[in-house]
Amino acid sequence: MTNGLENPGRRSLVLGAAAMAVAAGTPTRARAKAALLKAQSPYFYRFPLGDGEATIVSDGTLPLGDPHTNFLGLSPAEMDAQLTSNFLPLSNAVLEQNILILNTGNRLVLFDTGMGSLKLFGPTTGKLLATMKQAGIDPKDIDAVVMSHAHVDHCGGCMADDGSRNFPNAQYYISQADFDFWTDPTKVPQAFGAFLDTARKNLLPNRDRMVFYKDGQEFLPGIQALAAPGHTVGHSIFMITAGKENLCYIGDLTHHPVLLMEKPLTEFAYDTDPKQSAQSRVRMLTMLAQNRIPVLAYHFAWPGIGHVAADGKGGFRYYPEAMKMDL
Ligand SMILES: [Zn+2]
Repeated sequence: MTNGLENPGRRSLVLGAAAMAVAAGTPTRARAKAALLKAQSPYFYRFPLGDGEATIVSDGTLPLGDPHTNFLGLSPAEMDAQLTSNFLPLSNAVLEQNILILNTGNRLVLFDTGMGSLKLFGPTTGKLLATMKQAGIDPKDIDAVVMSHAHVDHCGGCMADDGSRNFPNAQYYISQADFDFWTDPTKVPQAFGAFLDTARKNLLPNRDRMVFYKDGQEFLPGIQALAAPGHTVGHSIFMITAGKENLCYIGDLTHHPVLLMEKPLTEFAYDTDPKQSAQSRVRMLTMLAQNRIPVLAYHFAWPGIGHVAADGKGGFRYYPEAMKMDL
């Protein structure tokens, strides 16, 4: 039916290109044989925020394992349907660790610190200091370390294994509720022994440099704490205002861009109080959606910036933002 002119099709185009190559006297076969490079691009991303500058640096991926054992309340069929329709694997939920470094112009603020040397989730974590180096940021220049909560993947990078501070000139900010809970052997459940040890290792030596932020408090210029408890007793998110711009650092308000969003009352296995966590999630996501505030989600796909919107069915949808490669 086609005559090769009105609808040439792929085969005709390929033949046409080969014919042109021969006509021009160039070889039709690649002669170069390049080695596979097996090296990834640097793991940081920078963008302007108001008068300041934000850099996201990664602590590496955190493979949680089987989503069916980590996210609770959906039937296996419903979970598989959610994952499949979003082109996500059924067998391993891999989280990122998107750490924000905010340069306000007169202060360098680090939000959460990754896992440090702890390899509870395998070998891919613990990259923070290396990625900061890639990003040209000296740990000695960090003025403030702000922690959303005291879990291993958020406080684990404060101290080096030799007992020295990774951020020697920083003041530390966390909720008192989390500090008190996760450093206390009588409060932390037995199964969370590594969490207790990590919090004690990283938080106790900094007790005299610790500032306890309060719900609603602007504890650093342009940085307000908003209590979002449930994931941990004192889990908090941070509303950042820089000039006319906002960015909400949502920490562990939601660990998964689909499974804790489409049905946001789905529970997460690491929550201290999963019911309260779900209520905090719905309340904060509703506020962020209504006000169209961009979010930085610590555990979403790299680099974790986007917006959330209500889906009209009681759930939420995450819209990742494209990286802007021109500063
Ligand atoms: Zn986390």
